[in-house]
This record gives sequence, structure tokens and C-alpha cells, in this order.
Amino acid sequence: MPAVTPTEPKLLPAVADASGTPRPVEHVGNAVHSFEGAGFPVRRPFPGGLDQTQTDPFLMMDQMGPVVYAPGKALGAPDHPHRGFETVTYLLDGEMEHRDSYGGGGVIHGGDTQWMTAGSGLVHSEMPTEKLMRDGGLLHGVQIWVNLPRSDKRAEPRYQDITGDQLTLFRNDDGRAIVRLIAGDLAGQHGPGNTHTPIVLAHATLEPGAHLALEWPQEFNAVVYVLSSAGRVGGPDGRALSSGQVAALGAGDVLVLDVHDDQIESFDVLLLGGRPIREPIVSYGPFVMNTKAEIIEAMDDFQAGKMGSIPPRIG
Ligand code: MN
Repeated sequence: MPAVTPTEPKLLPAVADASGTPRPVEHVGNAVHSFEGAGFPVRRPFPGGLDQTQTDPFLMMDQMGPVVYAPGKALGAPDHPHRGFETVTYLLDGEMEHRDSYGGGGVIHGGDTQWMTAGSGLVHSEMPTEKLMRDGGLLHGVQIWVNLPRSDKRAEPRYQDITGDQLTLFRNDDGRAIVRLIAGDLAGQHGPGNTHTPIVLAHATLEPGAHLALEWPQEFNAVVYVLSSAGRVGGPDGRALSSGQVAALGAGDVLVLDVHDDQIESFDVLLLGGRPIREPIVSYGPFVMNTKAEIIEAMDDFQAGKMGSIPPRIG
């Protein structure tokens, strides 16, 4: 799992195991296989595997691939609008290009994150690069939808290009677990992503035999999604989870992950949590608002061209 993976994890800052009450696994869901955009394959752990109260403020997660496209076969999501929330794309492998009607965009590679606040509304496209479309190749990433509170749903659109070298990396005591912090505060470390409400988003890799115990804010919910392989969540005797499974954790102070030392592959997980927004959610396709009237308004505004269009390429 490339993402940003240091060749010498021991050189990273070490974070001691947190002590306290482990947050137990309360609910496990399985990702559903589906297709998005022009038809690229995704696994969707939620909504579906977990309900909205368990993931709030996160609305949706898709694991895109891993898929190896033949030349000319890569697919993406051409021009479409969004309003009322944020789309976060974290790539582990491959290349994607994002363009939007607000002037944001760029190419992201394995390890990079594109954090787009749709806010008041825009049109964007999310496509494999021309190179990946022409030559084919591996694509693997996740897209997460983060809700905005009522007060920020019409915020000015914003684009954050968080390159892999900006991520905050740290390790556990023995260096067998590494954490890449994309946003939020975790274990005394601070991630680069700017968020509208307090959240944590991180990607952890645990080698066989690793134990990781991270202090986790009690007021945040806690969600673990398994990108690959298998491990235990909630302590050495906790619940075993494998690739494509998602868990919502119960009350406690510490998020605990373990991998058996007989295992061959490393355990890769996404860790998500945040302070729940707890407002009514009405969503329709690419719009997520608080009321049905606001959804109708969003559709009208899009139809009237008020969310703009992506400018043609020059040259
Ligand atoms: Mn989109």
C-alpha cells in the first residue's frame, strides 16, 4: 500500500501507547460493491454498513479500486455539481485530475489529498489523468463526504491541495505501526487539513505483531474502515475485522488496533472521527442540505447555471 510510506519508520516521531478505556467495537458493517461516476468500481462502507448517527459528520465513504485499468479504459466522474458539504479524495495509488468552476483543481498522486469544500455550490470533474487514460495503470483511493453545519453550508467554495509530503507522520513505540494524519489532532500531533468542524482523518499501517493505542476524544465518534488485510479493533481480544469491513466504536478514551504476529500482510485502516453535527439531513444526489426546500433551490440554482461551469482548457 504505497501512499506515503517511509523506508525507515524508526525516524518518525514516536507516540507512546495511550492508557485508558479502549473504545469497543459496537457495530460492524460490510462495504457494498457499487459503481460511481461514468462506471468506476467502488466499495461503499457507508451509508449502508453504518447508519448516519454513527458516522456524523461523515456522510459517505467510497473505496475506489484498487483497480488496474487497461489502456483507454480508465473511468472518472465528468462535470457534476455539489452543494452543502465537502468532498475529500485521498489517493493511495495512481493519478487523478480535479477541475472546478471556482478555479480550484490540480493533479493528485498517490499519497495526496484533495479537500474540496463545495459550500454554496460549484461544478467539478474528477477524472483519471490523460496519462492514466492513455496508458492504463493502477488506481486506488478513497472519497469521503464530510457534512457542513447549517451555518457553513453556503460557505465560499475552497480547494485544499494537501500533498503527501505535507501529511503529519508518526509511529508507535516499536515502529511497527505508522500513522499518516491528514486532518485534525491525534496523539498530540496536528494534521494539515483545514476543517469546518472538529474531525480526525488518518491512514494507519500496522505490520504483523503491531499494537497501536491512540488517545481519542470522548466526544468524537470513532469509525475504522479496513482498506486491506485483517486485524483486531478494541484491544488484543477485540473484534476481528477484515478488508471491506467498517466498525463504529462505542464509548471510551483510546482507539486500539492489533495485528497478530503470525499474519503475513500489514493491516491498513482509515480512522475517522468527529464531533457530530446532529442537524437534519436532506440529501438528493450531489446536494446535502437541511430541508427539502433547500434541495429544490439547489436543483434550480444548478439548472440556472448559478453553480458555474468548468472553463475550457487554454492551449
Ligand atoms: Mn464529485
